[in-house]
Amino acid sequence: MKTTTDLPVQGTQTPQFTEADKITGRSKIGSWFSGDKMFIAMHFIPLAAIYTGVTWKAVVLCIVSYWVRMFFVTAAYHRYFAHRSFETSRIFQFILAFGAETTGQKGVLWWSGHHRGHHKHSDTDLDIHSMKKLGFYESHIGWIFKKENKRVPIEDIQDFAKYPEIRFISKHDWIAPWTLGVVSFLIAGWPGLWIGFFLSTLITYHSTFTINSLTHKWGSKRYETGDESRNHWLLAITTMGEGWHNNHHYYQASARMGFYWWEIDMTYYILRFLGLFGLVWNFKEVPKAIKAKTIASQQANQSPAPREQVLAAGQ
Ligand SMILES: [Zn+2]
Ligand SMILES: [Zn+2]
Repeated sequence: MKTTTDLPVQGTQTPQFTEADKITGRSKIGSWFSGDKMFIAMHFIPLAAIYTGVTWKAVVLCIVSYWVRMFFVTAAYHRYFAHRSFETSRIFQFILAFGAETTGQKGVLWWSGHHRGHHKHSDTDLDIHSMKKLGFYESHIGWIFKKENKRVPIEDIQDFAKYPEIRFISKHDWIAPWTLGVVSFLIAGWPGLWIGFFLSTLITYHSTFTINSLTHKWGSKRYETGDESRNHWLLAITTMGEGWHNNHHYYQASARMGFYWWEIDMTYYILRFLGLFGLVWNFKEVPKAIKAKTIASQQANQSPAPREQVLAAGQ
């Protein structure tokens, strides 16, 4: 569905951000540490473990680091910064940004701004990682290398670009991953760096990327959303809930992507747990009218009506 109603900020650049390129401009050290060459090198660096050996400590670190960071990808980059599906304090907002950037998936303004663009244009010619239009390679990884996709789409993410600390961490997007790299080394030595950090980062990359590629191809389509988004239970497990991608395209505002109890959504459960301690609050939920209509339509063997119709009828 190519509506923008869920997006809090749309449209054109305002004068206060016309110097947006300053935000995208990385320092020299940043370009080296988190640029394309390093991204490609990441795919081979874990092989260094052949020379240092692999320890159990490093393997455990790799697994823990994967799950913790996948949570940050979905809760921070996606559900908070791109969709504002819950609220938090300014301090925890920064922690979310830092945690997300430890994955080496660039600045939070870049990631979340482009994701808003994906929802505005999904599976049209303007969708920069459309599986339908561009195929698997381009939608999975190729789009990241394109020059025109390097800039931060600041016009789509002004609501967070107004915070200086978020601009800083976005511009210096190498700080978070390399901090974690050093910490991984200190915890488990060289195997901790090669396996605990680099291999874990590599797996987090490709697991995240399946949401741009495979969830627009594999799985079932509960809702007619005008694009190719799908729900797939296996991808929902590997990405902590993001595999309910057709649900998400239908009702983007929700903090919960598994709409029913049987649709496992680990990110949502953890967010709710953090909510118990007052770290996050005001979760946006799926309206009852949508859930009821969905069940009714499935029992009648029909596709649920477009979201706007269901919401209008339910009020
Ligand atoms: Zn989204
Ligand atoms: Zn999508």
